Amino acid sequence: MVDKELVFQAQDESLVVISIGVANTLISYRQLSESSSESAGVLIGERRGVHIVIKKVSEPSLWDIRSRFMVDRVSKHHQKAVDDAFKNNNGEWQYLGEWHTHPEDVPRPSMTDYSSWHKNLKLLDSLILIIVGRTDFWVGKKTQGNIEVLKQV
Ligand SMILES: [Zn+2]
Repeated sequence: MVDKELVFQAQDESLVVISIGVANTLISYRQLSESSSESAGVLIGERRGVHIVIKKVSEPSLWDIRSRFMVDRVSKHHQKAVDDAFKNNNGEWQYLGEWHTHPEDVPRPSMTDYSSWHKNLKLLDSLILIIVGRTDFWVGKKTQGNIEVLKQV
C-alpha cells in the first residue's frame, strides 16, 4: 500500500500522477503467487495541459478471460467505466490508456505488449501504459508511434 500519489516524469518534464486510490488498486492485483492470473484494465482521469492525472481504473471482471500470461481486454465493462466516469465528472474524465500485470518483480514490456500497443492504440493524444510488477511499476507514454519510458520522481 502507498500513502501518497506516485509521480512519473517524461523528458519534456510533463508529469503523470497516479492517485493514491489508483496506486493501491493496482498494487492489489500484483501477481505475487505462481498461480495468480494476469489482470488488466483501462486508465481514466484528467488531462491538465501537458500533465495527466490518473483518477480511476477499470478492474478485471468475471467476463474477462484471465490467464497468467495473456489477458483479453475486450470486455465491455471497461468501456462502460470510461463512459460512466465521463458522465459523472462533467466530461473532464476520459480514457487515458491501459494497465496490466506481469509475473516479475521489475516489469518490462514484452514484444507482444509493444506490438499490441502499436496496433491497437491509435489515439492522437498521448496515452499512458502501466505494467504492474511485483515490486515496481513500469510506466510508459505513447505519443503516436513513439513509446517513452517515464521516470518516477
Ligand atoms: Zn505485458
